[in-house]
Amino acid sequence: MNVLEGTVKLNNGRLMPLLGLGTWKTTTAQVLQGATEAAIAAGYRHIDTAYSYKNETELGKAIRAKIQQGIIKREDMFIVSKLWCTYHSPKDVPLCLNKSLEDLQMDYVDLYLIHFPVAFKRIDDELFPMKDGMVLTEDTDYIDTWKAMESLVSSGRVKSIGVSNFNISQLQRLLSVAKIPPAVNQVELHPYLVQSDLVKFCKVNNIVLTAYSPFGSPGRPKEYHRGAMDPEKILQDPVVAEIAKKHQRSSAQILLRYHVQQGIAVIPKSVKPNHILENTKIFDFSLDEEDMKALCGLDRGWKACVLDSVKTHPYYPFEY
Ligand code: NAP
Repeated sequence: MNVLEGTVKLNNGRLMPLLGLGTWKTTTAQVLQGATEAAIAAGYRHIDTAYSYKNETELGKAIRAKIQQGIIKREDMFIVSKLWCTYHSPKDVPLCLNKSLEDLQMDYVDLYLIHFPVAFKRIDDELFPMKDGMVLTEDTDYIDTWKAMESLVSSGRVKSIGVSNFNISQLQRLLSVAKIPPAVNQVELHPYLVQSDLVKFCKVNNIVLTAYSPFGSPGRPKEYHRGAMDPEKILQDPVVAEIAKKHQRSSAQILLRYHVQQGIAVIPKSVKPNHILENTKIFDFSLDEEDMKALCGLDRGWKACVLDSVKTHPYYPFEY
């Protein structure tokens, strides 16, 4: 199976490529252009961005250049963007989408996600309005935000809608009222954070999972570091290395294969063409039961993304 054939069907019948390019912290024009070019050349057709990544203008340019060169068509691509927390008020939901579409210079995104269940106050254009070290939050219910997300679908400007960082009880609550059930829940997943209950719940309820930070987000800025464990250890974990040796693959490829084998999409971030290419070579081998058991055995509930500056909010989704 090659990268283009590795797709998963969403609950509305649309197909999403299992492998996508992550772009968080990829901001400068030159780097984005290089990464996008390398990714498209390597066969990626799924790119993950967000209003809060502040890179949609540059990403849109890089994709449009490939369209103009006749290398891809817009409809070949699966572009994911996300509604930021300062736009949860129902009247603001279309505003955030409009900003993303304007920046991307696209008529639609393929998947639009509520980035995080907690609403933040909107103060100017601050992504994280802070006071005394805590983010200023609002009470907007993500159910009301979801209703506004549903209204976007009929406009044709989003093909599918979903959520990100939602836990099981939040998904249950959403499913009990949704006219359009979420197609995707994008969450942190890797062998140090297996989340088997969430994986089972999503499978039973026909919600596709996308795994973010599949390598534990090494290289992310210091201010995002939290907890005792060094995140870079996932890529260097001896159990992962042993499985990689057995299959004559890299640890990165094992960590990506672990997801796609379960029908979970995965969006590794890289700006290096050699890594971008390496990360596609995951569809021509399989992990056996013993490998999967060993990888799941590494679970320790470790998270790269905790956003603990909103941990007192009733909709904060994580336990730690
Ligand atoms: P990640 O994908 O776990 O790790 C990225 C790091 O791994 C980069 O430093 C990259 O370095 C390195 N890397 C990539 N391929 C490699 C390879 N083959 N060998 C060795 N190192 C490799 O981290 P992430 O950026 O946190 O997560 C991925 C994407 O998920 C994000 O970019 C974003 O699109 C999405 N995300 C979503 C949320 C959310 O709340 N929904 C949160 C976090 C992330 P090089 O660039 O040098 O290759």
